[in-house]
Amino acid sequence: MEDCIFCKIVAKQIPADIKFEDNEILVFKDIAPKAKIHWLVVPKKHIPSLQALTSEDSKLAGHLIMNIPTIAFKAGVNETGYKVFMNTGPHGEQVVPHIHMHLMGGEPLHGPTRVS
Ligand code: 5GP
Ligand code: ZN
Repeated sequence: MEDCIFCKIVAKQIPADIKFEDNEILVFKDIAPKAKIHWLVVPKKHIPSLQALTSEDSKLAGHLIMNIPTIAFKAGVNETGYKVFMNTGPHGEQVVPHIHMHLMGGEPLHGPTRVS
């Protein structure tokens, strides 16, 4: 999608600190990390939010979740633990309208999964 910042990162039109990539997903460091480890797990397909998922996305959604343990291992947080969460819509504090999972860890995290 033309004006989507995450689509531009996926297309390598703007730089990001990429940590992992396969045919369907891209993982990169959050530009404003709120924890020692704060990575974003993004499908390459532009999907605006959880609310926009269709049955066509079932396999992709499964793929995203199933890759979390590997990504957590790469981040070095597989043993100490981490939070994975998705903000959705205005009350959910979603800022970028391209579906993404936050993976945060590297230190003890407290309280709700608020990132800003
Ligand atoms: P949201 O609030 O939409 O769930 O989270 C969007 C996240 O994307 C924020 O944590 C923000 O710091 C991050 N972000 C926004 N723009 C960029 C960018 O251009 N590059 C990277 N790496 N992260 C970004
Ligand atoms: Zn997008």
